[in-house]
Amino acid sequence: MAIDPVCKMEVEESKAAATSEYKDKKYYFCSVACKKAFDQDPEKYLAEEKK
Ligand SMILES: [Zn+2]
Repeated sequence: MAIDPVCKMEVEESKAAATSEYKDKKYYFCSVACKKAFDQDPEKYLAEEKK
């Protein structure tokens, strides 16, 4: 399982509604809305993840 960095939901890679690549890493999203939010400001969501 991957974690959707926007809403923190668990997303199964094969069933992800959307994916995005950022800095050679692949991210999985529960919805296209989450992908769009991430693409607009990836650092905002990744900074929160680094705890
Ligand atoms: Zn989401």
